[in-house]
Amino acid sequence: MLKSKNYNCVHCGYALEKTQTDPNSDWMGEILYICFNNSCSFYKNSFLVMKMQGATGGYRYYYSESGQEGSLLILTDNSFTDRICHSWYSETEPEPIEPDNEVVAYLKQLEKKLDQILLLIKGSK
Ligand SMILES: [Zn+2]
Repeated sequence: MLKSKNYNCVHCGYALEKTQTDPNSDWMGEILYICFNNSCSFYKNSFLVMKMQGATGGYRYYYSESGQEGSLLILTDNSFTDRICHSWYSETEPEPIEPDNEVVAYLKQLEKKLDQILLLIKGSK
């Protein structure tokens, strides 16, 4: 696990999500670490602050790979969520569950026993 790349939001402590910005946007494809916590106070207040300034939308806390931090303007809750780098999680994701050999062997034993029992029942008739 790449612990050194696990940044946290300075406002709520939530782990920031590594996000690849659109190469065609003002961010020019720069990697940003964004707080996507919808309970984050910074984020929650942002819509009101923007409204008071006569603007629409809000902002989330971000930290960029070049070391900048600040408020990332967003239009909706879902802005940038489609650009989160999910490969970031691939190292920590649990392995797909393999059938447990012990359990399989046990079930096969039970199956055999059941066959024996069925034979006994049939034989007793
Ligand atoms: Zn936050």
